[in-house]
Amino acid sequence: MSEAHPRAVLMPAEVRAVILDHVRAGWPAEACGLLSGRDRPDGTVRVEAAHPTANVDTSGRPDRFEVDPAARIALTRALRGGPCRIVGHFHSHPGSDPVPSETDRRAAYEPDLVWLIIGLRGGDDPAPDLTAWAVVGPAGPEGAVGFRPVVLRVEGPI
Ligand SMILES: [Zn+2]
Repeated sequence: MSEAHPRAVLMPAEVRAVILDHVRAGWPAEACGLLSGRDRPDGTVRVEAAHPTANVDTSGRPDRFEVDPAARIALTRALRGGPCRIVGHFHSHPGSDPVPSETDRRAAYEPDLVWLIIGLRGGDDPAPDLTAWAVVGPAGPEGAVGFRPVVLRVEGPI
């Protein structure tokens, strides 16, 4: 994947709703999950489904997340042979802006995964900010060089 990939991320409003339900339910802890979807010929990625997972981070810190590896393996298997792949993941920032943290940067090493970050100002935040980020490689032992913001387009009623 080139560093210009993807040009934009498209997401149906129903998928956004699944993500928001999960991160609101998890507040004040970070909540996370996986995104499956398709690479489109125009260089965009369309998210077809969100798959909430457990946050299995064991650091005890409120600003850490780790997608359950077992859930990722199961989803990879479920998608095998179909048109979709794991295109990225999402996690919440329960008390900070939806921009990648230093911890996120160190954890970013897969250039073909989009990062979706949801900034929550409370468990009932009526209008959380969702942002999408592409990993800018190459990643070294300390993680990626950084992130590049990607246009996120929600399709349908919000
Ligand atoms: Zn983060």
